[in-house]
Amino acid sequence: MKGVLPTDRRGVRELGAEDLVGWDEVTHGVVLNSFDGIVEDVAQVAPEERPYSDFNSYTATVASWRVIKPVYNRDICIDCQNCWVWCPDTSIISRDKQMLGIDYDHCKGCGVCVEVCPTNPKSLLMFAEAQEPEDALAKWPEKKKKEKK
Ligand code: SF4
Ligand code: SF4
Repeated sequence: MKGVLPTDRRGVRELGAEDLVGWDEVTHGVVLNSFDGIVEDVAQVAPEERPYSDFNSYTATVASWRVIKPVYNRDICIDCQNCWVWCPDTSIISRDKQMLGIDYDHCKGCGVCVEVCPTNPKSLLMFAEAQEPEDALAKWPEKKKKEKK
């Protein structure tokens, strides 16, 4: 039986592009810059003010991937920053240690922020993507009482 090696140019033949090289034959690379120009002290510049290049994932939205989304309830939040620390997509918006909301362009709806929120009831809860935030806030659960032992 013929061995399947990465150098057998399978993909290239199937595409009919004989003049192209296989992925393992590429010798030159390219650099995709995150920013247009040089950005000094980028950590001090708010994300929405950074000069992102078209190659940066910040310029693309993933909102259409989501089927559920986190909704934020400011009235209960204690600004502990847990959600900001744990969000795997940097989609919690926080300024000067105050939680401001969710970046719905980049949030993927994983629910991690809800899991780590310590308040009672939680200040973030997952709802269906189509749910209006006002309707979600109207359904917010009451504070859970401690069970007597
Ligand atoms: S649902 Fe996931 S991606 Fe969206 S804000 Fe929460 S932790 Fe971040
Ligand atoms: S984890 Fe909950 S309480 Fe803490 S900042 Fe986020 S929303 Fe507010």
